Amino acid sequence: MPHAVISDVHANLEALEAVLADLDARRPDAVICLGDFVGYGPDPVACVEGLRRRLGGAVVGNHDRAAIEQLDISVFNPYASAAIVWTREHLTEEVRAYLRELPETLRTSALLAVHGSPRDPVEEYLIDAAGARESFEAVEFDLCVVGHTHVPGVFVHDGESVAALPLRPGDPFELRAGHRYIINVGSVGQPRDGDPRAAYLWLDEGAGTATLVRLDYPLQKTQEKMTAAGLPPVLAERLAFGR
Ligand code: ZN
Repeated sequence: MPHAVISDVHANLEALEAVLADLDARRPDAVICLGDFVGYGPDPVACVEGLRRRLGGAVVGNHDRAAIEQLDISVFNPYASAAIVWTREHLTEEVRAYLRELPETLRTSALLAVHGSPRDPVEEYLIDAAGARESFEAVEFDLCVVGHTHVPGVFVHDGESVAALPLRPGDPFELRAGHRYIINVGSVGQPRDGDPRAAYLWLDEGAGTATLVRLDYPLQKTQEKMTAAGLPPVLAERLAFGR
């Protein structure tokens, strides 16, 4: 029963289309999205409309909340808040309604899904083992998938200590019984780990593995659209560096 878990599309339609084409070919049982559908990129409506019917479940991200005026943009950096102001002006009522209905957490038989962290589902950034430990201790789960930092990786709790481990593209990460995991699936539309390719996670419950997938997409096209839309140039430039 393989699942695909995607996150942080951030209105990047070209990156999303590359991921959806890959999912069409690989046919997972379900696709789950961990939020931040919008913000930064030039195609918020096309991304939400292109994705929503494909999803078996989704949760809300902080940029989604900000785009529908449910989160104050004073906590954002100037470029992110400029993109949110732009996004607010370009959403449809249907997309607003969809974002408004997204839950903060989703539980399936296999996993807990959140945008930020198990203990603070929308806003906390999990960046190190110490932060991950607080969530392992605060919430019950065996496997949790997160996004938000745009940096893929795994936190593993072996019953005593918590370690932060890398996820390498195409290299299946073994999920062991008796261990607990928080897996960051990376970002489809705005990677920040130095690799500009779109990222998503392939979760194979039968095999007990989690594999990071990376895909090239025509990012120059996204950059041109961002420039034409009047979005901050730095947001377009960073796509080329994955930062
Ligand atoms: Zn994000």
